[in-house]
Amino acid sequence: MSIEATITTPHARAVIDLQAVAHNTALFAAHTKAAVMAVVKADGFGHGARQVATAALASGAGWLGVTTCAEALHLRLGGITAPILSWMHHPEEDFSAALLAEVDLSVSSSAHLRSIARNAATLRVTANVHLKVDTGLRRNGARPAEWQELVREARDLERAGHVRVRGVWSHLISGTDPAGGQVRSQIALFDEAVDLARDAGLRPELRHLANSVATLAAPDTHYELVRPGIGLYGVEPHPERAFGLRGAMTLRARLILVKRVPAGCGVSYEHDYVTSRDSTLALVPLGYADGLPWAAARRGEVWIAGRRFPVAGQIAMDQFVVDLGDAPARMGDEVVVFGPGAEGEPTVTEWARWARTVPHEIVTGVGPRVSRHYVHATTQQPGELSRA
Ligand SMILES: *Cc1c(COP(=O)(O)O)cnc(C)c1O
Repeated sequence: MSIEATITTPHARAVIDLQAVAHNTALFAAHTKAAVMAVVKADGFGHGARQVATAALASGAGWLGVTTCAEALHLRLGGITAPILSWMHHPEEDFSAALLAEVDLSVSSSAHLRSIARNAATLRVTANVHLKVDTGLRRNGARPAEWQELVREARDLERAGHVRVRGVWSHLISGTDPAGGQVRSQIALFDEAVDLARDAGLRPELRHLANSVATLAAPDTHYELVRPGIGLYGVEPHPERAFGLRGAMTLRARLILVKRVPAGCGVSYEHDYVTSRDSTLALVPLGYADGLPWAAARRGEVWIAGRRFPVAGQIAMDQFVVDLGDAPARMGDEVVVFGPGAEGEPTVTEWARWARTVPHEIVTGVGPRVSRHYVHATTQQPGELSRA
């Protein structure tokens, strides 16, 4: 076997269903009159930014959202020409490559604005910027007290031809309560900020505030553009309602060792788990370095041959053990760690609950040893893994 074949032989793979991404994008588009920005930061929440972006743009998205200029440039290098907004920057970073690649830049302070304008002036281009106002999240965004000064400065730089204020935007505090009073007060602050920008002479054509859950459940946050992230990947963002999103990632592996042990047998580090009867134990070649949360060990379950089995003992860096009881199993049998849930296999949301974390951390945590495979059709069942 060649070296190349060996290094690409996967212990485990994440199968990404781009048809699900397309379905989810179209579902968001159907919930709004606004344009849809597909948020593909953090390598498309671990699914592959370029592949997700391509599927989303073909299914109703008109914009892409990323965190850094580097992420935006990766998309441009991948041949993607759609509008992209990048929203987290050091004020003194070199924006030249992003400006030449026609990446829109978010601005949260005068320091950022001046630096971007300086870069644009040097290159003799006009930077498209989206001014971000902090309506309560207290992360990125200008404080309301700084806003008036920021919009005046932006107006002057716009008149000088160095920037064009294409958007005004903000981000919601709660990912789970789209109809709450907090959202109402953020909308009010946001509208005030937009009015101040207009009073200063700016004409932003894109106001945007909504994340996934607000796109589905809070229409008054939509304005001209919505920014769904987690929902594109099929995680239902609303705590009580399901909207028909389809899980895009299935994490699969093969059992690499199967052994029979007697009752009373301690399993994995510290022997936290002890077999209650004669049992078949199976070894799964995935661990916390691959994104399986250590904290999920006591509660985690996996799907083997159409049934759920418990994780036995601690999840290690590279592997964990499953207690199969008396169920038959052979080395090489397939295990599904999580998938869309349609067949009964565990979902990303369940793994997040078992680990006391958010689903976002589960999907973005799937590590580099796990090879990504893309399928375009939904004909593949969670229980099957092609031996290609
Ligand atoms: C991540 C992110 C989103 C997407 O939020 P979801 O809750 O994943 O839909 C939208 N806007 C900003 C600024 C973000 O950082």
